[in-house]
Amino acid sequence: MKTTVFTGPRQVDIRDVAVPQTQPSQVLVKTHAVGLCTLEQRFYQGATPDSYPFLGGHEVAGEVVAVGTSARTTARVGDIVSLALLTRCGTCYYCRRGMDNLCVHNNESKVPGQLPGPAGLSEYVVAEDYQVYPTSLPPAHDEEWACRVCELALAEPLACVVRSVQVPPLRFGDLALVQGAGIMGLLHIQLLKQHGVRIVMAEPDAQRRQLALQAGADWAVDPLHTDLAAFLRERSDGYGVNAAFFTAGGASAIQQALEGMAKGAWLCLYGSVHPKGPIQIDPNLIHYNEWVVTGSFSHTSASFQQAVALIASRKVDLQPYVSERVAFPDVQRGLERAISPDTYRVVMVFV
Ligand SMILES: [Zn+2]
Ligand SMILES: [Zn+2]
Repeated sequence: MKTTVFTGPRQVDIRDVAVPQTQPSQVLVKTHAVGLCTLEQRFYQGATPDSYPFLGGHEVAGEVVAVGTSARTTARVGDIVSLALLTRCGTCYYCRRGMDNLCVHNNESKVPGQLPGPAGLSEYVVAEDYQVYPTSLPPAHDEEWACRVCELALAEPLACVVRSVQVPPLRFGDLALVQGAGIMGLLHIQLLKQHGVRIVMAEPDAQRRQLALQAGADWAVDPLHTDLAAFLRERSDGYGVNAAFFTAGGASAIQQALEGMAKGAWLCLYGSVHPKGPIQIDPNLIHYNEWVVTGSFSHTSASFQQAVALIASRKVDLQPYVSERVAFPDVQRGLERAISPDTYRVVMVFV
């Protein structure tokens, strides 16, 4: 089979390797669709210079072709599944606290002696039973089916956002700020909308603001040319937002969010900050306003299951975020399109 190795900045090798052996606890999946996420884009662009070689591809949907003799799964040969390729050992300190997104073994190689990385950009992927999420998608091979499989490949980013929006205890009619109208910001809008929350999107790019409105934001403002705090207070009888979700925009955006928060509000740092930069918070504001400052990183097995259910039941429509489909093995072209600012998610498809 063919697999993808990230060997250096702007360098990906397509290598011929043996189809992985399926151990008794594992499931072998024939890959159908793989999303090219920020992780793969960072490797491609050289942001992680010490980490080559790397087996990329972690947003995977495909078809079960073999089930190990002791694999604990309802998936059968022929079923379409989503894969959550993070390691969750189930026995470390964090797994036992219900924080399996922070499992201390997260980044270990699946196969001893194999290169590091989730290895989803391969014609076949071997997964542990607990990494396999069956879907109810029937076997078919028409155009609509192909689109649904692409959506299922995006269960991973959706699972991250499912977790994020469930962090603050929002109530119907609350006001939330979402910063950044990339795919993660737009997914925040879709899910917050289902909670009856009113949403202000802060995004400097006019075209992306338009997409945010289409996704369901009540307002979309340019944070560089608007008094954002005043805008938020005007829409909340002077109180401010009940939650602010930072997905992009750097440290200055976080600083801006703090100025428009109501008492009891939650500041949720969904995105990381590149380049790194400090923010300043007067601790007395946290004390007197009872603010909660928190982060949300990756997804749990619980939020992944919810994401697959949302996609399978069509409660969430991910089609608008699949900007392009590129046929494997032209991963280089897929990545070039993925890092271009005019795309949301580029999905590699295997035919
Ligand atoms: Zn991802
Ligand atoms: Zn663990």
